[in-house]
Amino acid sequence: MAIIAALGAMLFCAPVYAADRSDFQGSLSSLESADASLTRVVREAAPRIKAAVAKKAARSADIGLSFDEDVPEATRRQMANDLAFVESIKGSGASPLLRKIFGAVDGPSYRRFFSSRVRSVGMSAPAPAEMLAAVDPEKAPGQMLLNRSYVDSEMPEIQRVAIMFHEARHLEDERDHWAHAVCPGVLTDLDGRRWDTNLGGKRGCDTTPIGGYGLSLVMLRNIERYCENCSGKAILDAGLFADTISTRIADDDARQALRDDFSTFSR
Ligand SMILES: [Zn+2]
Repeated sequence: MAIIAALGAMLFCAPVYAADRSDFQGSLSSLESADASLTRVVREAAPRIKAAVAKKAARSADIGLSFDEDVPEATRRQMANDLAFVESIKGSGASPLLRKIFGAVDGPSYRRFFSSRVRSVGMSAPAPAEMLAAVDPEKAPGQMLLNRSYVDSEMPEIQRVAIMFHEARHLEDERDHWAHAVCPGVLTDLDGRRWDTNLGGKRGCDTTPIGGYGLSLVMLRNIERYCENCSGKAILDAGLFADTISTRIADDDARQALRDDFSTFSR
């Protein structure tokens, strides 16, 4: 499979997520106009702060992944930190679909799933910014490919984790690497709310509840419901991104299977 096919089949984009932050951004801009000089100071300091964060020692020294030379050092450290976060997760329960896919809401289960599928990380060929990551399983089995937009993005950690596990699913041999289906013209979340996207007619949706999108949706909803040691921000981010991902399930039976799975949360 050529990489260009992977761009279509393995698309994982997140532009809608930015819309969830519009209220926050609105309050930020009014704060900026209230004190422009302070804003300037913060902006001038930002590159130094960012560099310091990038230098922070990775939480896990050995993550069992090999990186191609062109993967930036800061991205390698970030991925090590993201996997260390995943490995630290402790859950107080799990939905039936989560048990079927991963076993339990806990770090070692997630880690086993990821490590048995993803062995190396490389950079993809230049691709549109909405593509964050991809795989090319015929040419590079076991390798996750990052687009420049993934490396440059400041998306929340939980979103990066969801992307990593989504791509891990594509590295399985089954179901043509869990290839995506064509999205309908109108995308709605599991509560029927309509979302504005430009994905209609593109291969960016799933018709199964446990493909790349369903799997990451189930993972995030269970973190939101059961994670005992996640930060409030991680739990909030998990819920927000789960809403976004749920729009990618484009089959009535698959959507109902997910609703049924999440209905176990209230029991
Ligand atoms: Zn995909």
